[in-house]
Amino acid sequence: MKVRADIAELLQAGVHHQDIARQLHVSRKTVSAAHRALNLPARVRGGGAPHATLEDAYRARTVPGDDGHIRWTGPMDGTLPVVCHDGQRTPAPRVAFRLHHGRDPEGRLRRTCDMPGCAAGAHYADRLIREANKRADKAFAAIFGGDQ
Ligand SMILES: [Zn+2]
Repeated sequence: MKVRADIAELLQAGVHHQDIARQLHVSRKTVSAAHRALNLPARVRGGGAPHATLEDAYRARTVPGDDGHIRWTGPMDGTLPVVCHDGQRTPAPRVAFRLHHGRDPEGRLRRTCDMPGCAAGAHYADRLIREANKRADKAFAAIFGGDQ
């Protein structure tokens, strides 16, 4: 069969069949037929996870923006970017935070930059970071004095 170039391109990029079908307005049947025609390796099964890890799923939906912000191209839950992986929805900032800081966030995550929906791990602070910042402010006041 003749495979459409745009379908082939997305298949080769490892995009999930469902996403390709939605994006290109074709049926999933067409996409899987193209998959077979191109002789591409079978997708990893198990919940139909399109990416090996949650982190991969996160990275696949991010576009680096200006000033260190990261634009989110994935699904949103209201104003919150969410990563869909393995049938689970995880707030993207949690994944980004873990990638950036190498640990899970504690307590509530708050965005520290002014770009709504930003998905940069460095632009979120958890309870530990907020407490450390508070201590730093106090230390600053102690060193430099004044009524700060
Ligand atoms: Zn940001």
